[in-house]
Amino acid sequence: MTETNKEGLPKIYEPKQVEGKWYQYWTENNLFRADVNADGEPFSVVMPPPNVTGSLHLGHALDNTLQDILVRWKRMQGYNTLWVPGTDHAGIATQAKVEESLASEGQSKYDLGREKFLERVWDWKHQYGNRITSQLRYLGTSCDWSRERFTMDEGCSQAVQEVFVRLFEKGLIYRGNRIINWCPKCQTTISDIEVEHSEKGGHLWHIRYPVKDGDGEIVVATTRPETMLGDTAVAIHPDDERYKSLIGKKVILPILNREIPVVADEYVDPSFGTGVVKITPAHDPNDFEVGLRHHLPQISVMTKEAMMNEEAGPYSGMERYECRKQIVKDLESQGYLVKVDEHVHAVGHCYRCDTVVEPMVSPQWFVRMKPLAEPAMEVVKDGRMTFIPERFTKIYLGWLENIRDWCISRQLWWGHRIPVWYCQDCDYIYCGKEEGLPEVCPKCGAVHFEQDPDVLDTWFSSGLWPFSTMGWPNETAEVKKYYPTSVLVTGRDIIFFWVARMVFMGLEFMHEVPFREVFIHGLILDSQGRKMSKSLGNGVDPIEVIEQYGADTLRFMLVTGNTPGNDIRFHFERLEATRNFANKIWNASRFVLMNLEGFDPHESWGELTLADRWILSRYNRLIGDVNKALEAYDIGEGARAIYDFLWSEYCDWYIELVKPRLYGKDASVSDVVKSRQTAQKVLSHVLRGTMQLLHPFMPFLTEEIWQQLPHHGQSIMVSSWPGAQAEFMDDSVENEMGLLMEVIRAVRNIRAEMNVAPGKRAEIILVSSNEESRRLLAQGSAFVANLANASEVKIEGVTYGQPEGAVTAIVGDVTVYVPLKDLIDLTKEIDRLTKELRVTEEEIRRLGSKLNNPGFVAKAPADVVAKEREKEREALKKKAALEERLRGLTALG
Ligand SMILES: [Zn+2]
Ligand SMILES: [Zn+2]
Repeated sequence: MTETNKEGLPKIYEPKQVEGKWYQYWTENNLFRADVNADGEPFSVVMPPPNVTGSLHLGHALDNTLQDILVRWKRMQGYNTLWVPGTDHAGIATQAKVEESLASEGQSKYDLGREKFLERVWDWKHQYGNRITSQLRYLGTSCDWSRERFTMDEGCSQAVQEVFVRLFEKGLIYRGNRIINWCPKCQTTISDIEVEHSEKGGHLWHIRYPVKDGDGEIVVATTRPETMLGDTAVAIHPDDERYKSLIGKKVILPILNREIPVVADEYVDPSFGTGVVKITPAHDPNDFEVGLRHHLPQISVMTKEAMMNEEAGPYSGMERYECRKQIVKDLESQGYLVKVDEHVHAVGHCYRCDTVVEPMVSPQWFVRMKPLAEPAMEVVKDGRMTFIPERFTKIYLGWLENIRDWCISRQLWWGHRIPVWYCQDCDYIYCGKEEGLPEVCPKCGAVHFEQDPDVLDTWFSSGLWPFSTMGWPNETAEVKKYYPTSVLVTGRDIIFFWVARMVFMGLEFMHEVPFREVFIHGLILDSQGRKMSKSLGNGVDPIEVIEQYGADTLRFMLVTGNTPGNDIRFHFERLEATRNFANKIWNASRFVLMNLEGFDPHESWGELTLADRWILSRYNRLIGDVNKALEAYDIGEGARAIYDFLWSEYCDWYIELVKPRLYGKDASVSDVVKSRQTAQKVLSHVLRGTMQLLHPFMPFLTEEIWQQLPHHGQSIMVSSWPGAQAEFMDDSVENEMGLLMEVIRAVRNIRAEMNVAPGKRAEIILVSSNEESRRLLAQGSAFVANLANASEVKIEGVTYGQPEGAVTAIVGDVTVYVPLKDLIDLTKEIDRLTKELRVTEEEIRRLGSKLNNPGFVAKAPADVVAKEREKEREALKKKAALEERLRGLTALG
């Protein structure tokens, strides 16, 4: 053990002074760096890469605090620990940022051209892209910065290319005309899960379609009449008796007068609307599928800007909603409109710009999902991968069961460009590395190749994150040692975007799950339970919180009261309370350090008192409790256990109990010096160990204190995690101490209730017929006297009637008597209480007459009435308590 640092702790805890210093110390000494060649069972985690455009929000703060707690805990337990940090290139977000700045210069990306534009984006990334990772450092994250990755760095890009080519060669990537979600404003495809649906009030228009050859008519209902211009059929349910005779016949599409067939398809819901639906394969995903089944043509009637095109006939050139108005008008004037109903339905919006997305048919690249989804479901069903909490398993499986092919092409410039080249003179396609591109087309001999202009969905590269960051496709030592990773910590909002994709990519390319456990946490809401958002202005900047309260306080506050998977509300009061906890630890540690003078850490334990044995027992139990909580990912429970121990047991009881020994004033011991030494040993041993247990939660504060205490080694973060020692755990000691604590509490309560001035000391009499209890009380009488502010503690086997003027309390088989006659002025106290009783009775009368007034009860809002009733109940309770005390006091007199 080294000597304690003589400087000691400053009087006031200043998080800023503590935090910057230690983060620098840890990084300078390479304490976060993983050594792939070192021994130790691996424990590895990849950080969900934040967007390179981002700045730290509370969600990141929570996510990374949870990861850091697990990583620091495992590292101290001796695992070979790797935590890989990095950022995501965030295709659309980053491109939009740079386009904005170009626009402010009066330029567009087309003025620059692709190559120059990408240079601008890289410049932007180099200049601003480190913001979020430097913010993560303030939080205290102990990730291995020497292994920091970026989804578009050389290695990750190589992995992306390799994966694309292999999937292409296996037939799992294909190019096809498919219905996709198109954002007319962003001018790009967006994936199904990037479409946000919201309920909108709209209309259901009922339109008459005449049957060809004058054979009557049918009525279809639609929410989007403008798309009828692209109708290529109407459909009915095959079992719908009403329309059976029409199957195979033709109807006339109003306005355009095109003949279209009536088809029968199970997809039609006979109970919705009229039971007949129009089929527009080019503008609706379900119709698209129906169209494929019935070999219907696809007619696109809109441009990429959501304007009507030449297929729209007379409406060509109109904006989509303008067209809707006009077409409804025309249908009405031509007698085709049957009726209009009000109708609420879900409308899809772009998650970035909130424009209504347009389903469109377009040539895109897809990943064939069925063969990849199967094994990704298997590993969860057979337990190779588990979700914490378990309920997310169902959500994950449900999504994969219903998955559609994944559209991976994006009409952007910033991202991984699709590694496919097209011969401009024939239909030859080359997929592979650019170096391998043939000079002449093997099919037609031409030399005109052009690369696909699109880039890949950002989630394509983040789906490879657990192995691309470890150097795959190269066979690196990291891949061998650290894959699969131990746990993924992430928010419930990206299970589909990210978690599922990592799973099937990992299984396909590594033949092994990417992580054994997925620990899902909730979202952080404001104090009223609303999502934090820019528009509500209710966001909290974690960096500001760190500035004001320190990272330790933010971290601890975020995890306390937090159970896996559930959302958390952010309250500033809780932040204040956590800061008080940090101050409490600081002050207690200062007290301990100031009282370690002359302490020799090499001395043996000496003779342990009941208090010593009690705190050692409680401390060793705490170790087990914290381990148990962390193993179950119940991080909040671990934090609570440490909080309670430190605050209520170590600070409020143990420190108070050992004070007389530290000051050399404990008359009950024979060897004052030895007793002091033992107290110092227990105090510092328990404090040091508790700082270790707390370290993963509050890394900075605990390092500062640990460094000042007698310790081994360079840093608390690489010290050995405390092990629980069974020989110190002692139920009977805890019970015995529990009895003394109860007695002290009882006396304190009586004094508080009777309004005894703190300076006045009272004699107390403890009576028990149980010999064992008396022995115990005798042993602890010095504690009791000290902590219950007693002038004398008398212990007796029997009482001969109640001592005169005493208040009593029962604790187990002990009766506590506190004679009060000399402590309070009885007459004065009776007067005071009588007055209070009158005021309370007056209040009860007032409330009673109000509540008995039918006018008030009928007219006042329900919550006001309820409040008044509650007040009445409280007042009645108070009245009873006051009467009880008055009776007691009168008896004393
Ligand atoms: Zn958009
Ligand atoms: Zn060719």
